[in-house]
Amino acid sequence: MKLTGLQIFKLLPNTNCRECGFQTCLAFAMKLAARQVSLDACPHASDEAREKLGAAAAPPIRLVKIGGGEREVAVGEELVLFRHEKTFYRKTAVAAQVDDRMAPEALLARVREASSFSVERAGETLRLDLIAVKETAGDAARFAAAVRAAREACTLPLILVSRDPGCLRAGIEAAAGSRPLLWGAGDGNAGEAIALAKEFSVPLVVEGSGVEETARLAASAVEAGVHDLVLSPAAGGAAARLRDFTLLRRHALARSLPGAGFPLIMAAGGDGYDGAVAAAAGICKYASIVVLENPEPWQYLPLLTLRQNIYTDPQKPLQVEPGVYPIGDAGEGSPLLVTTNFSLTYFMVSTEIEASEIPSKLLIIDAEGQSVLTAWAAGKFNAEIIARAVTDRDLEKSVPHRRIIIPGYVAMLSGDLEDKLPGWNVMVGPQESADIPSYMKDVWAKAAS
Ligand code: SF4
Repeated sequence: MKLTGLQIFKLLPNTNCRECGFQTCLAFAMKLAARQVSLDACPHASDEAREKLGAAAAPPIRLVKIGGGEREVAVGEELVLFRHEKTFYRKTAVAAQVDDRMAPEALLARVREASSFSVERAGETLRLDLIAVKETAGDAARFAAAVRAAREACTLPLILVSRDPGCLRAGIEAAAGSRPLLWGAGDGNAGEAIALAKEFSVPLVVEGSGVEETARLAASAVEAGVHDLVLSPAAGGAAARLRDFTLLRRHALARSLPGAGFPLIMAAGGDGYDGAVAAAAGICKYASIVVLENPEPWQYLPLLTLRQNIYTDPQKPLQVEPGVYPIGDAGEGSPLLVTTNFSLTYFMVSTEIEASEIPSKLLIIDAEGQSVLTAWAAGKFNAEIIARAVTDRDLEKSVPHRRIIIPGYVAMLSGDLEDKLPGWNVMVGPQESADIPSYMKDVWAKAAS
């Protein structure tokens, strides 16, 4: 149960000693209620207060870890329903599924393709996170062989999918020591699956028909001593799933339904476009893990791009490091362009420079991650700042032609910049990055000849 500021205040010593950095215990209590400070900041809190507040301060959605090492997947600990309220913290883990009926070569090819997928976008490496191995043949040895093959082919954590406790056991043993996620506890076999999760200390998916049954199964797993749970309210089609995922998220944040405070997993079925749409819905609406049941490589980039957009902190724009970036085989005669360190601006400009096939240098200014016009309006991208970046980096030496191309949207800076950079020729580039290739070929080529 979430405590209000006043309820928390009643548990504090009320001495107003200020050692927590606040003027009064009440002010500290209000910040604690808003989860903006930790109780650890008050050295005088009683054991009773720590016990009560500790339970209240626990995240409404439990943190669950799958696998280990560098590629460990951590899901849960979300605090809000909408990203603009704060941010979403733990991006949806995306899994590609294989099954034990696949020919060994096909299974290996899919695992390798999924696990090696990697694209740099806006300063982040986009990759898949998990491999799901599904049991479909009812043969424990066959399932174990598929798990072993997937494990040997990649370092991604595994999800073991089976409703057969014997197969699940064989799968866990084949994945020994890698802390896989078991997806197998549902109506009819929940007790056995919960016992397996407890015996091997691995996280478990509990699957119920709708919100209440799923939460009830989760509560019984907790009672049995299994705390690392992931929920799958599996009833109905896409609309019912979205409704149930939303209800479970609401219940978890409000702490209004025992057993609801766990991450959610969604199986994105369907081929091709249908599978991608189902996965996209899960990424948008509260799935902590999405399993592509019939993965196709073309689905990976759009889904991971969607995820990146949703899980970017809306209060912190994506940024690249300020500096001088050579594009192509840039040398002393190459053009020098300047822009801000907003990631999308950088990637759009650098992509178009590459498309021009003219090796160039791109000077990136620290504008706190803002785009050109926003930064200019905020006083973060002006003649003085650009001139200082040029002189601080000694660009007179590495750019002997002393020409600098500024974005067309800040053409008004050109005179001021020439005053601040004596001996430099300030050229005004295009407004839109898409026009950079033609600008380079027509305007720059003429100026440089
Ligand atoms: S340190 Fe504790 S007792 Fe002192 S003012 Fe802060 S909350 Fe109150």
